[in-house]
Amino acid sequence: MSPERRRILTGVRPTGALHLGHYVGALENWVRLQEEYECFFLIADYQVSDHADEFDLVREAVFEVARDWLAVGLDPERSHFCIESLIPEHAELTTWLSWWIPLARLQRNPTLKAEMGEDSASMPVAFFNYPVMQAANILMPKAHLVPVGEDQLPHIEMTREIARRFNRLFDREVFPIPEGMVGRVPRLVGVDGNAKMSKSLGNAIYLKDDAETVTQKVRGMFTDPTRLRATDPGHVEGNPVFMYHDAFNPNVDEVNDLKERYRAGKVGDVEVKAKLHAALNQFLDPIRGRRAHYEAHPKLVREALAEGTARAKRVAERTMTEVRDAMRVDYLG
Ligand code: ATP
Ligand code: MG
Repeated sequence: MSPERRRILTGVRPTGALHLGHYVGALENWVRLQEEYECFFLIADYQVSDHADEFDLVREAVFEVARDWLAVGLDPERSHFCIESLIPEHAELTTWLSWWIPLARLQRNPTLKAEMGEDSASMPVAFFNYPVMQAANILMPKAHLVPVGEDQLPHIEMTREIARRFNRLFDREVFPIPEGMVGRVPRLVGVDGNAKMSKSLGNAIYLKDDAETVTQKVRGMFTDPTRLRATDPGHVEGNPVFMYHDAFNPNVDEVNDLKERYRAGKVGDVEVKAKLHAALNQFLDPIRGRRAHYEAHPKLVREALAEGTARAKRVAERTMTEVRDAMRVDYLG
């Protein structure tokens, strides 16, 4: 592996299998960029304190996520699949970096605010600190680029601030200043019309859903609430069914024709949805095929995680040596 390849770090929380939002927001870029960059794909199991009472789900989700990564075409030989808590250097760097983040900086973070909801007082301290841990994740392999969905951009902005601050404080370029990169669809809506498809909101179409499940979910999708009959003129903009057509149906002529007839009140939701689940199932079929292979060969999934984690741990050890040198944490010589 050539040392001068620029690096990517990005990741997923092990809270469940991956969905269409992950694909267009992030995974699609990851698959493409692994040609050009040395990639660290992290399973962020330190960052699921909001799922502490269902740790069995987390344990299983570590493998769900890895199977999905393999199914979409991430290559565990070229890239590093790594598990955060098996590289405890991430916790160590988080501790140091937390020194330089004022509480008010976290309280201003809009993504964190939204995720905490009304009841932030009862959230674990660890949840509050997860953006700092994410900064540690990104800085650990000295990543240059962080391809993510739009909801993660505030965390990357904070990471840039921390990196600059650390470099300035210790007067050396320990960390590159990383750039965020948002996917083709920055934030895919949920099947319920919610602004974000999310594992935690129960509004997702999963990459592993079978054809019948996808068909049912599409049939139940939220569309244009102002339209009562198929002969009423409908709204295409802001309509989740058309957003999914734009994102996943490669037949642009078909999509344009549906949009035109929808606006004119000349097509019903049934036909628009039937064409959508056909397109989605076609898109998902090869992913399902590859996933079935890894389900039948769990050893391959385990090896991908074990080998990637071992490689990433060596990189982390080197970075932490530099961090301790810079900070002069060398009391005993
Ligand atoms: P959770 O609800 O448990 O936080 P999640 O669905 O938000 O799950 P994450 O593991 O937090 O998934 O996110 C992994 C990556 O996928 C991040 O880069 C995130 O921005 C991106 N992502 C997640 N959901 C979407 C979405 N609906 N549209 C675009 N990108 C998304
Ligand atoms: Mg999330």
